[in-house]
Amino acid sequence: MRAAAKRLMWSVYALARSFLVKAPGFCLVCMRTVPAFLPYRHGSHALSPILREVGIIGSDLDRFRCPACGSTDRERHLIAYLRAHQANLFNDRGILHFAPEQHIRDFVTRHQPREYVQADLFPNNPSIARMDLTALPTQTNYFDLVIANHVLEHVTNDSLALSEIYRTLKPGGYAILQTPFSPQLSSTLEIPALRSPEARLQLYGQEDHVRLYGTDIFARIEASGLSSCVRKHQDALPDLDPFRHGVNPEEPLFLFVKRA
Ligand SMILES: [Zn+2]
Repeated sequence: MRAAAKRLMWSVYALARSFLVKAPGFCLVCMRTVPAFLPYRHGSHALSPILREVGIIGSDLDRFRCPACGSTDRERHLIAYLRAHQANLFNDRGILHFAPEQHIRDFVTRHQPREYVQADLFPNNPSIARMDLTALPTQTNYFDLVIANHVLEHVTNDSLALSEIYRTLKPGGYAILQTPFSPQLSSTLEIPALRSPEARLQLYGQEDHVRLYGTDIFARIEASGLSSCVRKHQDALPDLDPFRHGVNPEEPLFLFVKRA
């Protein structure tokens, strides 16, 4: 089904649900019932016409933030998936978490990793090391898991970043790489001359994104040597009501492995 038709179907369902069912949401991070999840900025109404046309898949702009704990939809979605299928990725493992999100960080910490390195190009907290994802100071074949959610779309040389992720992973290690993309574009849209924040917002979805990935994102990631273990929401979490739990059912779960 075309993305626009699918989006319309979900919107009609969401609208009908909100008027007819009047059901509150339930946050899978703080495990609290909430009246509704809060939108990102002005919600999906603020999407540019071009992003609407190409059906960008990323954050759920209308059910973005939990009013109780502040978790985002992408944290809730990933945590639901990890709880259901991948809880063994953390306990007693070595983990590198790039641009760490608060609730994913709390989730990882609760699972008692052997070593947990948090890193960012611009760290805002003393517990986060300054690292460039395209020149990691970490050892080769070292980590069991690298997490870099919504990072690649900010990195100018994403193939170098992916090579570095591959290098620092142990054989058999995993990478979690949630990234927004368009299912309507077969090729990634990247215009180096496009530098103004407003133009990037219109074309890529955020002022500091440097491209809009197309469906070639999976091949681009696999070009690093990583192998796809990506799953669709409906396959991985068929019983999870995306509206009640404030997650985007269009968003795949981007898990990759460095084959041993
Ligand atoms: Zn919450």
